[in-house]
Amino acid sequence: MARVLDGVAIAAEIKAEVGAEVSALKAQGIVPGLAVVLVGHVAASEIYVRSKVKACAELGIASWMLTPAESVTTEEMLAIVAELNARDEVDGILIQLPLPKHVDTRRLLEAVSPEKDVDGFHPVNVGRLQSGQEGLRPCTPAGIIEILRRSGIGVEGKNAVVLGRSDIVGKPVAMLLLNASATVTVCHSKTVDLARHTREAEILVAAIGRPGFVKAEMVRPGATLIDVGINRVTDAAEVARFFPGDAARAEQFAKKGSTLVGDIHPLAFSKAVAYTPVPGGVGALTIAMLMKNTVQAAQARRGVEVGAGVAVGGV
Ligand code: NDP
Repeated sequence: MARVLDGVAIAAEIKAEVGAEVSALKAQGIVPGLAVVLVGHVAASEIYVRSKVKACAELGIASWMLTPAESVTTEEMLAIVAELNARDEVDGILIQLPLPKHVDTRRLLEAVSPEKDVDGFHPVNVGRLQSGQEGLRPCTPAGIIEILRRSGIGVEGKNAVVLGRSDIVGKPVAMLLLNASATVTVCHSKTVDLARHTREAEILVAAIGRPGFVKAEMVRPGATLIDVGINRVTDAAEVARFFPGDAARAEQFAKKGSTLVGDIHPLAFSKAVAYTPVPGGVGALTIAMLMKNTVQAAQARRGVEVGAGVAVGGV
């Protein structure tokens, strides 16, 4: 039986450690703070931002939510970022993506002070990751490393295959795995004979946004499967194909009219030694890692020594 890597439990563990770090900072008169900028009214973004603000409240991190209108210009957004860069009580700045098309996302992400870049998207932090220096790491990739580490799954010397090469997930997770001494292959939409690569993977990370793309025959027996994909499926026949005989899933689908499926076909999990479920796997880690990054940014900016609980992004 493949082991389920419980992202919810690991996220709770990390949050507890971050909470202890927050208490230690508060004892020194420092309250770490996160500013979140949410433009317009994208329903999914509103849900994510609310969860982030709620997590801050739970852990004693101060938070500010700025909500410029959909019509905001790049120049106005740059002014907001400049103000947040200058405010000393703000340790982390998060610009919720995606932004409206008329806003220059790249310019904005580059305007965030690298010291406050808790998403780890600034070129300075990308460079620090690339050269193996300490720095703020993108949350979802960092969460994947935490899952592997805390589950006792060794990375060094392993064949790791990453599906997807986005700046947010694929590339940074490949770099983190490389820094942890895996032998890394990155596949993408132009890869020829992709299954040839996945069948070699001892650790397979799927981040492409295609429901159930990785089939059982593409998986090496005994692999560890890390499923980053979050795909909402609304077709009953498709749900039955993904989860044959799964009464709990069928009931959930009947209630909600949709269910979440990762990029790895659920029937492929039985070939693995361990896997992250969807939901309840990688997705559960992202906010915990954002909280961890915020505290790390506060410690670094304010010259506080890192406590036992929070390890600075070493890999
Ligand atoms: P992007 O759309 O930015 O990137 C997708 C990548 O997958 C691209 O590199 C693309 O290749 C590759 N790809 C697409 N189709 C194929 C294919 N048929 N074969 C091989 N490669 C393919 O997605 P993201 O990286 O942002 O997200 C990926 C998934 O992870 C999504 O389901 C998303 O919802 C989820 N996600 C989950 C998060 C979480 O758990 N918190 C956070 C972020 C994302 P190419 O570059 O050639 O176009």
